[in-house]
Amino acid sequence: MASEWIVLGSGSILPRAGHGCAGYALRRDARKLVLFDCGPGTMRQLGELGFGVADIGAVVLSHFHPDHCWDLFALAFARRNPEVEAPHLELVGPAGLEALLERGAAVYPSRGWTRFENVSIREVDPAASGKTIELDGLKLGWCATLHAPEALAWRAELGGSISVTFSGDSGENPAVAALAQGSELFVCESSFPEERAMPHHLSPEGAGRMAQSAGVRRLLLTHFYPAMEPENARLRAALTFSGTIEVASDRSRHGLSS
Ligand SMILES: [Zn+2]
Ligand SMILES: [Zn+2]
Repeated sequence: MASEWIVLGSGSILPRAGHGCAGYALRRDARKLVLFDCGPGTMRQLGELGFGVADIGAVVLSHFHPDHCWDLFALAFARRNPEVEAPHLELVGPAGLEALLERGAAVYPSRGWTRFENVSIREVDPAASGKTIELDGLKLGWCATLHAPEALAWRAELGGSISVTFSGDSGENPAVAALAQGSELFVCESSFPEERAMPHHLSPEGAGRMAQSAGVRRLLLTHFYPAMEPENARLRAALTFSGTIEVASDRSRHGLSS
C-alpha cells in the first residue's frame, strides 16, 4: 500500500468551515502515524478518519504557536484514558519542546492530566540544518524558517527516493527551498494573498516561487487564513510554479509514491 500525507487541519486559528488549525498525518503501511503539528481539532479529525489514539506513534512539531501544537495536551490526556492502550510515543520538535511539555503538564499539577507518560522527547537545534535524525524508518532533516525563534521546516525521507517537505510557518526563505530540493511533495503554507502579505508567512505566489526553485514535483497549498480562498491560491501559485498544484482541505489525502 502506498504512503500518504493526510491533512487534518488546513486553516488557521480563526474559525472557518472546512479549514481547522494546522495538523497533518504521515501514514505508511502498517506503521504508526507520524503527526506533523497538532493544532486544536487534530484529534477530532483523526477520529473522523477512523484513527484512534493508539494509532499515533510520533508527533513532530514545527513551532510552538497554539494553532500548531495545543492538541498535544489533548493527546496527553487521551493517552491516560483507561480504555486506551497507549503505545510508546516519540515527540520531536525544536529546542524548548521539553520545557513546553513541562509547562503543559503543570496546568494540573496534582492530577497529571496533561503529563505525557511512556514518551521519548527529542529536541533539535534550529541552527543545525544539514543534520538528520531517524524516526521509525524516516530520515528527518530540518531548517530554521525565522517565522518564530524556534520555527522549523521539516523534510521526511520515506525511502525509495520519496520525500515530503513541510514548510511549517515560513516566509519566502531560500533555506526552506533548499531543504525541499527535489521533494515529491512540498506541503507549503499559503496564509495570505500577496497584496496582504505578512512578514514570515507565505502567499501562494511565494510558495510557488519556492517550489519552482526547489524543483519539487507537487506543491500542496495549505494553512489558509480567511482572506485566502483555496482555489484562488491555486491560480496564484500557478503563476510562479509550473508543477502540479494540490489544495488542502480538512481530511484531504495526498498519495506518495515513487
Ligand atoms: Zn505560527
Ligand atoms: Zn501558523
